[in-house]
Amino acid sequence: MSDKKTNLYHSPYETQSDWPSGMIQLCKRTPRPRRVCRAFGMVILISITHWPALAQDKAGQQTQIVLLGTGTPLPDPERSGPCTAVVVNGVPYLIDVGTGTVRRAAAARNKGVKALEPTNLKIAFITHLHSDHTLGFADVMLTPWIMGRREPLEVYGPTGTRAMADHLLKAYATDIKTRTEGLEHSNMTGYKVNVHEIKPGSVYKDANVKVTAFSVRHGQLDTFGYRFETPDRTVVISGDTTPSPSLLENCRGCDILIHEVYTEASFDLVSPEWQQYRRTYHTSSKELADLATKAKPGLLILYHRANPGCDQARTEDCREAGSEEQLLKEMHLMYKGKVVAGHDLDIY
Ligand SMILES: [Zn+2]
Ligand SMILES: [Zn+2]
Repeated sequence: MSDKKTNLYHSPYETQSDWPSGMIQLCKRTPRPRRVCRAFGMVILISITHWPALAQDKAGQQTQIVLLGTGTPLPDPERSGPCTAVVVNGVPYLIDVGTGTVRRAAAARNKGVKALEPTNLKIAFITHLHSDHTLGFADVMLTPWIMGRREPLEVYGPTGTRAMADHLLKAYATDIKTRTEGLEHSNMTGYKVNVHEIKPGSVYKDANVKVTAFSVRHGQLDTFGYRFETPDRTVVISGDTTPSPSLLENCRGCDILIHEVYTEASFDLVSPEWQQYRRTYHTSSKELADLATKAKPGLLILYHRANPGCDQARTEDCREAGSEEQLLKEMHLMYKGKVVAGHDLDIY
């Protein structure tokens, strides 16, 4: 697809740089008083320079969901670690920062979502501190800074997020020292991190979004799901969780529910120990079908298709039992709402 087709934020004004002089020529030829013509031209010009906002209104979509990473700890080359971008009026908000976050953001930019220019990555919400959800933390702290971001990264997450950020800054102290004191001349502010350790409730608000964090059940980990309310959409993301009543309460007819899941078929093939792990940490297709039937999202996006136990066994039947095809088969049997399997760089 061409850049123009996929990019809602493309401004046609870029292609009309000779427009003002054309308007002047037209005013010279028009029988109306030139003053009136020029004023009319100015109104048109202002409208065109504000085209991006108008274009979004016309498309009825100020909010885009960009799946930057739909994976799990499994090192699947097709799926980066968990990271979802909610983009509202050109501002990106990240949920989780798994492996590959910044490179996937650059890929989304290349696909036409200009808001995901890496230097625009300035705010992130972390669901929990499992490594698959945070391996890209240092990447999001440092890479956009090296590319010129001047603002510190704002990060919201559970208790322990601050310690993780402090440790990462220490781990990369040599890098930060050489880049700020050496010939790179990197700025002194953009590598910093402002951590906000949060409790359930309203955690963030600006002109684009209201973000609510709510507790979900993921073993003994302090874990949040998030609800994003934007001018045109309500988006709920599960994080990693067993079926949690809080997800039902926070979605209830939401526009989009992004939820983790594993297949029933793969559950039957793993050891009792892995079955117990799954029941304590994750959500089966049947459990998700039951939850979504009650929560009634406009669209259910499946992500973080976990296959613990099978990932370690690496047998062909175990892999197939946990495949996307199997998952969709199970979901379509048990859930009558609209459901899709998310892939990296899908846009909704
Ligand atoms: Zn995970
Ligand atoms: Zn987890």
